[in-house]
Amino acid sequence: MAEGYEGPVGVVFMKPVFVPKIWGGRKLETEFGYTIPDGPIGECWAISAHPAGDCEIVGGPFAGMHLSELWDQHRELFADCEGDHGKFPLLIKILDAAGSLSVQVHPDDEYAGKHENGSLGKRECWYVVHADEGAEIIIGQHAKNATEFRQMVEAGEWDKLLNKVPVHTGDFFGVLPGTVHALCAGTLVIETQQSSDITYRVYDYDRVQPDGTKRQLHIDQSCDVVDYRQVPPKDGKVRAPEVDGVTELMDCPKFVVDRIRVDGTHQLEQKWPFLCVSVYEGEGSATICGTTYPLRKGSHFLALSDAGTIEFAGKMSMIVSHLPE
Ligand code: ZN
Repeated sequence: MAEGYEGPVGVVFMKPVFVPKIWGGRKLETEFGYTIPDGPIGECWAISAHPAGDCEIVGGPFAGMHLSELWDQHRELFADCEGDHGKFPLLIKILDAAGSLSVQVHPDDEYAGKHENGSLGKRECWYVVHADEGAEIIIGQHAKNATEFRQMVEAGEWDKLLNKVPVHTGDFFGVLPGTVHALCAGTLVIETQQSSDITYRVYDYDRVQPDGTKRQLHIDQSCDVVDYRQVPPKDGKVRAPEVDGVTELMDCPKFVVDRIRVDGTHQLEQKWPFLCVSVYEGEGSATICGTTYPLRKGSHFLALSDAGTIEFAGKMSMIVSHLPE
């Protein structure tokens, strides 16, 4: 492993981590061209320093290191960013929901810190890269308080409890802590989230895993963390304007997510501790610190604090995530 390095590093590319899931499919291979393990694969952890899937760096002076190690040993490349409780704060995934995910809810930092050994809470968001005709998602719920929520769960009144909305290619959904949610069959999304894995499962469609068991539910914790004041959304339409190819999708205390569409060239000043870039359509290149990197659908990279101005070229669409100002 490289102790030191010469000159600006600018960028790191990583090997994605693929996660089998009972609801997964094969689109990460057929749509994105990744080489994936056999069976239903639900998740591609594209930029991750989380212990459950810590990406290995490919090429450059840090080849073979994991992202968490680069973060721990070379924080200067991240502008000495503190992170979230000291950890690399974001996690970028692609999710292929061939079947429906369990209905779930995530805690906020305070609840997770208290009840999950100091873990982070989880805030996430989904950019819909593809949705099948007629596909839906679950986002939000209709109970007014924990008592009502528990009653409806115990009675199995899912249609009454859960807020289901149609989902289309190009939609975007912010999922705050306390929001009951589930991706349903026929959706492919890029997810930006806090680097946390704490999920409370409300309902799993009574599915049985290959080993004959059902996945655990967490009704008590769910009742505790659901945010009963939230008004569930009616759709996922992006209403923010597109300016010079850039559309701001979400700006929250944990991250900012933009969509950037390049047609020709596009310059982006990398002024944050780091910048996560995921190409989900088309192809082109990025020139960073004098080196040109080819990009195509399925390319992800992390631009470091010394990247300077990134010169994109080609015809491609990207999701770009960074910390708030
Ligand atoms: Zn979730």
